[in-house]
Amino acid sequence: MKIDLRSDTVTKPTKGMLDAMMSAQVGDDVYKEDETVNALEMRLAKLFGKPQALFFPSGTMTNQTAIKLHTNPGDQVICDKDAHIYHYEGGGVSFNSGVSCKLLAGERGMFTANQVVEAINPPDFYHSPLTKLVEVENTANRGGGSCWDFEELQKIRTVCDTNQLGFHLDGARLWNALVAKKETAKDYGTVFNTISVCLSKGLGCPIGSVLIGDEALMKNAIRIRKILGGGMRQAGYLAAAGLYALDNHVERLAEDHQKAKEIGSVLLGLPFIKKVEPVETNIIIFELAERKNEIAFLNYFAEKDIILSGMGSGKLRIVTHLDYTDSMHDHFLTVLKGVKL
Ligand SMILES: *Cc1c(COP(=O)(O)O)cnc(C)c1O
Repeated sequence: MKIDLRSDTVTKPTKGMLDAMMSAQVGDDVYKEDETVNALEMRLAKLFGKPQALFFPSGTMTNQTAIKLHTNPGDQVICDKDAHIYHYEGGGVSFNSGVSCKLLAGERGMFTANQVVEAINPPDFYHSPLTKLVEVENTANRGGGSCWDFEELQKIRTVCDTNQLGFHLDGARLWNALVAKKETAKDYGTVFNTISVCLSKGLGCPIGSVLIGDEALMKNAIRIRKILGGGMRQAGYLAAAGLYALDNHVERLAEDHQKAKEIGSVLLGLPFIKKVEPVETNIIIFELAERKNEIAFLNYFAEKDIILSGMGSGKLRIVTHLDYTDSMHDHFLTVLKGVKL
C-alpha cells in the first residue's frame, strides 16, 4: 500500500467523477458555447454572490490574471512573505504584470490591517511604486493550512476602500477554510474584488481553477486568459468534474481535517519533534529537533512506501486528502508512533 502525503493535488478522479466527466455536454468554450463550463461559472459566481466567474486550467493562471486585472506595470502588490504568488508562481508577478511585491512579516501566512496601512506607499510620493493591490491566501499554504480571522479581512477591506486598493483572495484552499470555520462563500464575496478557487486540491478534480469577481474587473479576464494561453475548447469534460466535486467533495473535507489533527497529536508526542504548527485544516507542518535528521526521517517513511515532503531546514509537511483512506491513516499512525531515528 503506497501512501502519498506530499500534497492534496495527488488525488485521482473517483469513479463517480469520471462518470460525470464522460457524460458532460460540451461545446467550444472559446466561443463560450460549452454549457458545462458555463454552468460551473454561473454556479460559482452565484455561490460567492458575484456577477462573473471564469474557468481556468490552473490556480497560478487565475492568480496571475487577477494581478494583471488589478495593476499596471510598475505598481506594487502587498502580500505576506510566505505568499504563493511570491514563492511558487515562477516570478509571474513580474513576468506577467511587471509589478513588485511588498512582503509583510505575517504570522503563519497571515497579517493584520495595521500592517497593510503601514505598507501602503503614499500615492503622491512618486519615488515609490504605486500600491494597487492587497493579496491574501486562505488557507495559507506555507502558514500550515492556517485560516484567517474573517473580521481581520473585513478590516483590510476597509483599508483598501480608504486607499482605493484592490483586494484579491488566493482561495486555492478556501474550501478547507469554509468547512473548518463554518463560513460561507457569500461572506467572502462581500469582502474581496476577485477570488480564485482551485478544484484540483482538496476537491479532487484533475484540473481546474475559477476566478470570480466584480463586473468591471472581470470584463477583461477572458482577454488576459487568452493571452496567457488559457483559452480552452471542449473544457466541459473538466468543468463537469468541478460540478461533481462541489456536490460531493466539499463537506467531506472535515474528514481530512480530522485525520490531520490526529497526525498532529501523534507528532506532538514524539521525542525528536521540536515543533508542530497548529493544525487547522489538512496541512501539518512540523520541525525536527535536529535539522540533519530531515533526510533520515523522509527515508524511514519512503522505505515503507510512505511519501512526505521535506521543506528544508528540518521542516516537513504532510497533507491529507481524498485518496488518503481510513486504512492508510491507521497504518500511517502506527508507523509514525514507531519511528526510530
Ligand atoms: C496550489 C496553489 C495555487 C495554484 O497552483 P496551481 O498548481 O497552479 O493550480 C495557488 N495558491 C496556493 C496557495 C496554492 O496552494
